[in-house]
Amino acid sequence: MNLTRSKQLFERAQQLIPGGVNSPVRAFRHVGGIPPFMASAKGAYLYDVDGNRYIDYVNSWGPMILGHAYEPVVRALQEQVPHATSFGAPTELEVLMAEQIIRMVQRLDQVRMVNSGTEACMTAIRLARGYTGKNKIIKFEGCYHGHADSFLVSAGSGVATLDIQQVPGVPAAVAQDTLVAPYNNLQAVDALIEAHPGEIAAIIVEPVAGNMGCVPPLPGFLEGLQQRCKERGIVFILDEVMTGFRIAPGGAQEKFNLDADLITFGKIIGGGLPVGAVGGKKQIMSHLAPAGEVYQAGTLSGNPLAMIAGYTLLRELDLNRHIYESLEQKTQKLADGLNTVFGKAGVVHQIPHVGSMLSVFFTEYPVNDFAAAKAASNELFRQFFHAMLNRGIYLPPSPFESWFVCDALSDADIAQTLQAAEESILEIL
Ligand code: PLP
Repeated sequence: MNLTRSKQLFERAQQLIPGGVNSPVRAFRHVGGIPPFMASAKGAYLYDVDGNRYIDYVNSWGPMILGHAYEPVVRALQEQVPHATSFGAPTELEVLMAEQIIRMVQRLDQVRMVNSGTEACMTAIRLARGYTGKNKIIKFEGCYHGHADSFLVSAGSGVATLDIQQVPGVPAAVAQDTLVAPYNNLQAVDALIEAHPGEIAAIIVEPVAGNMGCVPPLPGFLEGLQQRCKERGIVFILDEVMTGFRIAPGGAQEKFNLDADLITFGKIIGGGLPVGAVGGKKQIMSHLAPAGEVYQAGTLSGNPLAMIAGYTLLRELDLNRHIYESLEQKTQKLADGLNTVFGKAGVVHQIPHVGSMLSVFFTEYPVNDFAAAKAASNELFRQFFHAMLNRGIYLPPSPFESWFVCDALSDADIAQTLQAAEESILEIL
């Protein structure tokens, strides 16, 4: 594959931008090599600056659920631009957006728009702390809730990819308020609750973990967390930045019939523009400024371009709910095909998937937590990644990231992906 121009750009970028990228995993540190610099995208395909085409399983890390440059979203943006790109004053679009989110996600009373998933999660824990008057939070090993100080303890995603044990710059005084349990382990949660009676403000969890690869919740895990929170006055926060509007129209709250106190969103709700949101029960949300005194703000929050892109995408998903069935079928087909390819080649593997999230772990053991995810073969993943990239298949450049399937992916694309997987695995072995 010719990556001449990408190579030149990466060299220039490394002089100007730390590591050459504006978000760490994009640099391909884990897998090595030159990251293709992208020029355009349409449907299920990416096109790089050297003219290579890729079938995309990253989908901007989740937002592009209907594919790139989705016509209704592009049109809505074009219509909005001449009116205004930002006011810093309330707009009707923000009301429409809040109504749309609340219509699709059950048991949600109010939402506050922010600019990223990180902001959403940061706001959720401040709100939980302000509401309960307590400081400690429980999170899970390998889960990622953005790059705010409190979350960079045993974090997944780029922190796991770069294998950073302790993030310099996070004050110990802040980190000590983040208690950590293994994912899918209620006993460990009970032990933390017992060890810190009356001190825990919130439990925050990815309902399907997608930042240590895709790790589904075991039956009863999420329900068990919710029950413990309700019994003890702990705020139950579902981080649906990844799962929201992806694994069901109403996300994990709908799929697992949950009743979270707060839910965080990002990715899909921006339709490809920078956005996040925190929503939840009015009883808690009403503590946010200016209704209450838990302070949170944003110059560009509720930005009209982000609102129109997200609102248009959410409305399309709401009005065409059959898309979710189709996404699941595509994902199942991909997982079945990969199982066959790896099985025939005699390669130990696990392919957990939920909705249109999927992961490949080269291990013989089921992956239910971060330790199991880390025990899978990194070397095989690395080789597989490059063999696939050379064949025009763009996978997340880390085993600690979920693949995403978009609705624009065709049967022919899946067949091409499986063909590439078969050739890749034979080449590696
Ligand atoms: N929460 C989850 C579950 C995520 O996957 C991410 C990002 O990948 C975040 C929070 C942070 O979102 P952002 O990157 O928009 O700050």
